[in-house]
Amino acid sequence: MKKIIAPLLCIAMLSACNNDKKTEQTETVNLDSKFENYKNTFIEEIWRLNPGWATGSGYHKFDSILEIPNAELRAAKLQAFSIIMDSIKSYDENKLNSSNKISLWMMRDQVDASMWYINMFKGHEWDAANYNVGGSFADILNGTYDKLENRLHSINLKLNGVADYYKAARESMKNPTLEHVELSIIQNNGSISIFKESIIDSVKKSSLSEEEKKEITTKSEAAKAAIEAHIEWLNELKKAITPETARSFRIGKELYDQKFKHDIQSRYTAEEIYNRALKRKTELHSEMGKLSAQLWKKYFKDKPAPADTLAMIRIMIDELSGQHVHRDALLSSIDKQIPELVKFINDKNLIYIDPSKPLVVRKTPDYMEGGGAGASINAPGPYEKNANTYYNVSLLTNYSEKDAESYLREYNKYILQILNIHEAIPGHYTQLVYSNNSPDMIKSIFGNGAMVEGWAVYGERMMLENGYGNNEPEMWLMYYKWHLRSVCNTILDYSVHKLDMSKEDAIALLTKEAFQQEKEATNKWRRASLTQVQLCCYFTGFSEIYDLREEIKKIEGDKFDLKKFHEKFLSYGSAPVKYIRQLMLEDLKK
Ligand code: ZN
Ligand code: ZN
Repeated sequence: MKKIIAPLLCIAMLSACNNDKKTEQTETVNLDSKFENYKNTFIEEIWRLNPGWATGSGYHKFDSILEIPNAELRAAKLQAFSIIMDSIKSYDENKLNSSNKISLWMMRDQVDASMWYINMFKGHEWDAANYNVGGSFADILNGTYDKLENRLHSINLKLNGVADYYKAARESMKNPTLEHVELSIIQNNGSISIFKESIIDSVKKSSLSEEEKKEITTKSEAAKAAIEAHIEWLNELKKAITPETARSFRIGKELYDQKFKHDIQSRYTAEEIYNRALKRKTELHSEMGKLSAQLWKKYFKDKPAPADTLAMIRIMIDELSGQHVHRDALLSSIDKQIPELVKFINDKNLIYIDPSKPLVVRKTPDYMEGGGAGASINAPGPYEKNANTYYNVSLLTNYSEKDAESYLREYNKYILQILNIHEAIPGHYTQLVYSNNSPDMIKSIFGNGAMVEGWAVYGERMMLENGYGNNEPEMWLMYYKWHLRSVCNTILDYSVHKLDMSKEDAIALLTKEAFQQEKEATNKWRRASLTQVQLCCYFTGFSEIYDLREEIKKIEGDKFDLKKFHEKFLSYGSAPVKYIRQLMLEDLKK
């Protein structure tokens, strides 16, 4: 820990020596440049305390370290975090520029949350899925940042700890939930092939000495055995867990509210967002009912519409879902749409899109395929900002006719356009280009999920408000269906963890009130039982951004400029919306 304090002292002493003639301005400049240095120290410390996260983020100095997740490690981390917190608090936030001010808040929140996870949330005691060594080994093995031999050296050292790792995992767990034990069995099983094949195959291909090849191969086999023994232990544990004694996967009121606060960083509480989502659901049903009634004649002529509004909406959505691209045209139609979205945004003057940072639409590479179809943005990490951004589209190659049809109906002509807005332009991809323009690593490494997802969800609505889709009722109806997903994600998550919602009621909410397919609903239930709070980030971020826009519109009146608002908002990087709001409102008062 001395490492962080030493450089700070040096800087402090230097500035103390020639402090006499400074104006307040230069003092501010100096505090900012001192803080710039501290940010680097801070990041280095966070990586040292989280080597697996560092590897995953593209920082490879700690690749060879496998942490042993025991009580001593947790105590050491707590101590380190409290020292870091003291360093952060030594900066007077009022003397920092606005970008650094946000960074300081984010650093403080990050450390605060890290301590809360160890002290209060205690996932190490009950979430068996916390323990799996596979991911961090795979990150190193599949990396392209260094030559194979060097990466294998790191793996060689890292392998030393695998048996102790799982021993510590077993000692740390107390009354784990059945659901996470089951997940952990699946995930650890998924890791076996890394040690049984991937590492050993890479060793064979490498130019390492015969001696080191043998060493790594032996260790890799031992690691595989350690994982298998752990899985066996988990299977025994699973048998011993009874519904009466097991800890519930529902985290309950108190932890939920706190986790919401730490993960989402919203100015609203979980309860406020939940109530808002309930209200929004009712409004959406009413809007969708009106649109469906309006469209009914066009599609069903004289056939009478069901008296039940939700039933009518469902039939209308089913009808419109039939309009979809051919399975072979999925990639090409997405590719074709990107320039159309850019043109619309330019014509309407909605936000500046940097033409020098093109988005590459491609088939999802095989090693990234997760089995399911889908589309997602593959963005360069904080340490490779200038690398290409890819829009990965999974093709339906292995899909039966029936499964392909179901998928294509879900991502029909309308929803596919909204998906492109969300993932690409002006959603995730555009936000990322702006975020990467700000050189602040704090904001990219600790980027706020609710801001990032909220922006993409906000982008969908903003595009339609500005006439995307020619204001066709079909487009609005399908948009509302898509939007209901974010709204119901929030209701589901909150209800499952705080209000004891049953699986039956959850599936009914998603299928009957959000018009989802049974399979999608079952998957969502599973996600809600294995994670907490994350499902709220879409609607929370959206609500905050939307509110902020309306708030500024009100203040600025005729002077409000939507394009300027968007560009200014994104210029702060992926920071929590409440912090961006604070600075944007302060700026308006100047
Ligand atoms: Zn079809
Ligand atoms: Zn998203």
